[in-house]
Amino acid sequence: MTSRSILSRAKFVRTTTTIATIFSYSNGLILLPIASSLSPFLPSISSPSSSRRRSRFYFTDPNRKSNRNTSTPNSSSIVTAASAAIMSSASTNPNNGDRTSQNIPTFDGSDEKSKATDFANYFCAYAQLYHQKQMLTDHNRMAAYHAAIVGNADIFKGKVVMDVGTGSGILAVWAAQAGAKRVYAIEYTDMANHARRVVKANGVEHIVTVIQGAVEDVILPQEDWDGIGIDGGLGLGGLTIEEGDVEVNDDGRKNQRVVDIILSEWMGYFLLRESMLDSLVRARDTFLKPKTGLMMPSHATMLLAPISDEDERRVSHNDYANAMDDWREFAEVTSTMYGVDMSVLEQDYDREQREYYVMSSRWAELRTGCLLADPIVVKEYDMHTCTVEDARGVGLDIGEDKGNGSPIDFDVVGRRLSTSLVSADGDATADFGALGPISGFAGWFTVDFKSRTDPVGRRAAPVVSNPAHLSTGPEMGYTHWGQQVFHLPSAIPLLPDQTTRIVGTMEMMRTKESARLYNVRFRFVASRRKTTGSDDKDGGGAVLMKGKPEELVYQIP
Ligand code: SAH
Repeated sequence: MTSRSILSRAKFVRTTTTIATIFSYSNGLILLPIASSLSPFLPSISSPSSSRRRSRFYFTDPNRKSNRNTSTPNSSSIVTAASAAIMSSASTNPNNGDRTSQNIPTFDGSDEKSKATDFANYFCAYAQLYHQKQMLTDHNRMAAYHAAIVGNADIFKGKVVMDVGTGSGILAVWAAQAGAKRVYAIEYTDMANHARRVVKANGVEHIVTVIQGAVEDVILPQEDWDGIGIDGGLGLGGLTIEEGDVEVNDDGRKNQRVVDIILSEWMGYFLLRESMLDSLVRARDTFLKPKTGLMMPSHATMLLAPISDEDERRVSHNDYANAMDDWREFAEVTSTMYGVDMSVLEQDYDREQREYYVMSSRWAELRTGCLLADPIVVKEYDMHTCTVEDARGVGLDIGEDKGNGSPIDFDVVGRRLSTSLVSADGDATADFGALGPISGFAGWFTVDFKSRTDPVGRRAAPVVSNPAHLSTGPEMGYTHWGQQVFHLPSAIPLLPDQTTRIVGTMEMMRTKESARLYNVRFRFVASRRKTTGSDDKDGGGAVLMKGKPEELVYQIP
């Protein structure tokens, strides 16, 4: 995904009967080195066979195969277009004051070039109403946030709220409707202008202040600060800070921790992709009252399960095989017609194509029947205490993690043949076990909107009497996040009356090329043993087979 100038639409058919149209973006050669070797990425209208590569937004083209005949964008024009977009957004930004730069510290340097790159690769999608609408029509998402806000009006009444990344302004409007006395709605892109209109059209402009800028740079309006009071003392703008909290921050800025509730819809694929969590953590540490402040959502959980998904796995493999057939034909033609031997490049092309087709995760809307075992939790975040370090990945030796990967341990029970495996209630026809094979893993997340559980907040912060929950798992049907599926290069067969165990670790880490993108590494060993009963777990029969250790690294595109 890069600049607007190369924006176009790609159509694709989902595995269900609906037809969806998504925006996709071509990818800059320089801007995203991870995918640069895969350019040209210019999309065209076509209908691939499946719902692979659906979008919250994409850095890369969802339908690459159909894009081969299109021209390659000139990378310098991408940067120029992105810079222009930044300029336009900066010039209309009332929060800029005379500060010289907007600073999104996720990115080293945060100079004009890295901001332009980030705009080109990330923010430009959110500047489109099309993308905002895609989120606004995700009813699982909408219902959870609506329940969390409007269903807990008691804790919003008379409070100061911040919506980090307000987009169209929807959460800010709900907060005002729930009785907040002031809502700061922060949005980096020009979508802020649309948010202002939505706020006005819904009659809450006296409550909601839309501020265009990076939340990392925001300074709350001066007039709201006049007469600021501590612990109940009302300033003109109604802002208060908590007793005992510092009045000047480490960076010398006035303490802005006057916000009672931070709302944000920051989650990306498999939770972390997009890295907006960094911005949220920084907003929390700058604006939220440390003891009584509430984050909404309050907790986030990443889940992983083994799945059977052979049709889709085969599609990836066929695409890869076709790409290599195509290469060999090309090499042949180039040699016979033009007298140059290209076969020396075949190995590199092979690696590149394998990374793209096989070692990349896929968007999926899985049926629950695809799940071969209960999902396990690979990481949990308390939004009140997690740090920027925690946002860097899973199973790494940073933040709260101790390194060596997050443990995974799945028992997948093959289908039952033997009548000796009678269930406890004597039901000999009890149906259990899966046909398989194990095609790979699926990762997704849930978030909760509930009371604070950390030692400080548990005592001091308001109780959330109507907790809400949002899952992006297969049990929910469609969410625009769907699940991320990691197909194995070769499927693991399941045998009747045998239980296959997968033991190992999962790590998720930022790519070197982009702080907003992640790779996922699985290390595991598969083994099989005789199934000893319908509740077979661990122990079980003796090990019949143990596979070789596997190490697989995927990119989440
Ligand atoms: N709150 C809206 C939009 C959520 S999408 C809704 O729930 O429908 C996330 C939004 O956050 C995008 O519009 C994106 O442009 C904005 N955003 C991401 N990082 C930001 C940052 N650092 N500062 C300000 N806005 C940001």
